[in-house]
Parts: sequence; C-alpha cells; structure tokens
Amino acid sequence: MIFDNHNRPITYLRLAVTDRCNLRCFYCMPEEGIKYLPKSQLLTYEEMERLVRVLARLGVSKVRITGGEPFVRNGLMDFLWRLKATEGIEELNITTNGVLTEPLVPELVRLGIGSVNLSIDTLDRERFRQITRRDELPAVQGTLNALLENKIPVKLNAVVMEGKNIEDLPLLAELTRNHPVEVRFIEEMPFNGEGSHYPVLNWTHRRILQELQTLYPGLERQQDSPFSTAATYRIPGYQGTIGIIAAFTRTFCGTCNRIRLTAQGTLKTCLYDNGVLDVRALLRTGATDAELTAAFLKAFAHRPKNGFEAEHERGPVTESMSTIGG
Ligand code: SAM
Repeated sequence: MIFDNHNRPITYLRLAVTDRCNLRCFYCMPEEGIKYLPKSQLLTYEEMERLVRVLARLGVSKVRITGGEPFVRNGLMDFLWRLKATEGIEELNITTNGVLTEPLVPELVRLGIGSVNLSIDTLDRERFRQITRRDELPAVQGTLNALLENKIPVKLNAVVMEGKNIEDLPLLAELTRNHPVEVRFIEEMPFNGEGSHYPVLNWTHRRILQELQTLYPGLERQQDSPFSTAATYRIPGYQGTIGIIAAFTRTFCGTCNRIRLTAQGTLKTCLYDNGVLDVRALLRTGATDAELTAAFLKAFAHRPKNGFEAEHERGPVTESMSTIGG
C-alpha cells in the first residue's frame, strides 16, 4: 500500500469517463453547458484500463466511475466488465444521474457493481426541472426503483441549496424509513463552471444537521465507515441512514484516501487542486508502466494537506464539476 506525505493511504480512484452530461444542473454548469472536450482529448477506454492496472499495483483497490454522466459514453458497460476483472480491484462503484441507467440495472447486478450513487436533489418534478434544467425526474425515479428492486446498495446524493430544495430534506430523509439506502446531503461547492460562489455558504453541514435534528429530534449518530466523507445518522426505527457531507467546509481531509483522474487524463490528488499531473501526455508520449508509476508516486508524495491548502495553491476554483467527476 502507498502512503502520501501525510501518511494517508491511497486506495481509492475516482475515474471520470467523460465530461459530457445530459443534465444542466445550475450548481454544476451554466445553462448553455460547458465547452466539451473533443473526443480525441478524452482518455480512451484502453488508456483508462492501463492506468487502473498501474494504480492497482500501487494499492488502489476501489474504483468509482463518474463523469460527466458516465452512461452517455458509448461502450461503458464493456469497459466496466474489463475493469471488474482487473487484478487488485476489489470494489467497483458508479455515480450516475440515473437518466439512462434503468435499463442497465440488471447488467449492473450481473457485473457485481458494489454500489450506485444516484444524484437526486429533489422528489418534486418541477423543482427537479428548475435545478437540472431538464424534465427527467420520472426516469431517475425509474432507476431508483430498479436499483431498490434489484437490491443494489444505493446512496442518494442531494446538494442542499437555499431556495431550491430545502423542502426536500424531510422528503428525501423519509426514503430511509422503508429502504436500506443512505441519503447524503452535500454542501454546495463552487465547481459550477462560472467562477461565482456565495460570500458565505448558507447551508453548511452544521445547518443541515440542525435542520434534520429539528425535524427528527431523536436523530442518532452512527459509526462512520473508515475514510468516509459523510457523518452518518439514523432516524430511530428507520432502515436506512442519512449522511451529511461537508464538501465545502472540508472537515474530512485528514483521512482522505482518494485520487481522481479527469476525463482528459489529469491526475488530481485533491478535489480542490488544479490537476497535478498530465497523465494523458505521459501515455501518449510512450511512457512505460515504470515511468507512469514513478510519476504517480512523486505526485502522491506532494499531496496538499487539505482542500484549503490545495485551493490556496491554485486560486479560486471555477471549473464545472462535470469536468472532474465530484
Ligand atoms: N453525472 C453523474 C451524477 O450526476 O451523479 C456523475 C457526475 S456529477 C458531477 C457527481 C456529483 O457531483 C453529483 O452528485 C452532483 O450533484 C455533484 N455536484 C456537481 N456540482 C456540484 C457542486 N457545485 N457542489 C456540490 N456537488 C456538486
């Protein structure tokens, strides 16, 4: 296993397979979308497979596929089967908006997907349309039902936003009553492709917790899983759990075991850094596996201590989360 310069193990890769998305969530990108990369600038599946093999030899055992929306890229399922067969990869998960996912759920079961994170900020069709600028809630709910019916472990991701979906907190929390899902409330981050953010974030993890405690006075703190970014709670008697993720307040950097590869093959050792290694350039100039390994090790030995240090080194973030993967 490889440890970084702050003695944190690196075991978890988040791999963005595309920067394209079929939603236009206002907190992620402007209405007109972002300038997508030409296909030639995206890593090919073969390049991604090779990188996963190299990283698995360094101790990465868990991979999460993300994007953009992973299912808009052709050939994704074949790629997932090949990744699943990679030596050393013990857990393969995916994050999706669920618009195209429902018909693929049976194959995800056969594949042995570890868990699916489904992004769903609201259960109200009109609010969904306002937030995502697309009328796709029925398709996303179809995916949720299919995941539950097929007993795939599900985490539901909801970004908490003033004036947009506060009334959804109890509606989403209620999903944990009869389903063994984890509903995760996430602080909004500035990765919106516009470079603007709030002078002060209204809905911090503390305020989200206060709101939930007001709604559910018996809310019980749970043991978090190791390396978890979420502080986990349970409403007494409910099957599922509720997670609160301080994604902007950045309270969990001390146990961060993750690295990211963007769709264009840039390594990020912190969500808030500006990309620390152009892996695509290495691949396309003929780097050997030993050279790739050496470059990864060097990057892991210079990880920022936390997201504040990473952001300080680069200046304010402006890019869309669709280029990173979240
Ligand atoms: N398309 C997939 C999806 O919607 O789940 C995967 C990519 S998406 C960028 C991953 C996650 O990032 C989603 O749950 C989304 O809500 C979250 N996200 C995007 N922009 C964000 C922001 N500015 N702040 C907080 N979360 C954000």
